[in-house]
Amino acid sequence: SVNKIMPDRIHKIVVLGDSCVGKTTLIQSYANERYTSSCQATIGVDLVMKNVNLNGRIISVQIWDTAGMERFQSIAANMYRDSDCCVLVYDVTSPDSFTNLDMWHTDFLKSISPIDTTRFPFVMIGNKADLNDYNVSAEEVRQWCKLNNNIPHFEISAKDSRHVEDAFRIASKLAMDYA
Ligand code: GDP
Ligand code: MG
Repeated sequence: SVNKIMPDRIHKIVVLGDSCVGKTTLIQSYANERYTSSCQATIGVDLVMKNVNLNGRIISVQIWDTAGMERFQSIAANMYRDSDCCVLVYDVTSPDSFTNLDMWHTDFLKSISPIDTTRFPFVMIGNKADLNDYNVSAEEVRQWCKLNNNIPHFEISAKDSRHVEDAFRIASKLAMDYA
């Protein structure tokens, strides 16, 4: 459908993390308000558009999904190019998915090489908080986030939607403030 709102700028948010942490489910449920229970691994880059209301100001964001590419550990540089925020996703039941975010974070910064690496905004998301087997300590995540210039951290669930809006609202706000 035709977007009647003409935004001054589209803010680009890239969502990264290991395969099966729930990135696609999260992005799709946030954009379309629906939840799918299958692990989709279509190869390619996928993106959704969303208008986000930040205290009455509507901004337009473009959320990029790796759509299966993460399995090859080589994301096309054009997926990262001109990003305004990067959302790092781990699965609260999978310690490896948290440990590997260090690699995703480093690779991303290396690829975009911003003038000031300390200023580029990230948001940290622990997904699947609806499951009752937490294997990643929130305290450990908080320490990592603190060490990396105070990245905001959310424990969310794409399945029951808890804190999904909050996390993307902060990501959108940070994306708008960057630039
Ligand atoms: P991706 O590879 O990171 O894009 O992960 P997917 O979005 O394909 O999700 C992988 C699997 O995790 C699927 O079976 C999803 O239904 C499931 N999943 C995603 N988010 C959640 C969540 O918040 N809670 C639960 N319990 N399962 C989830
Ligand atoms: Mg996916």
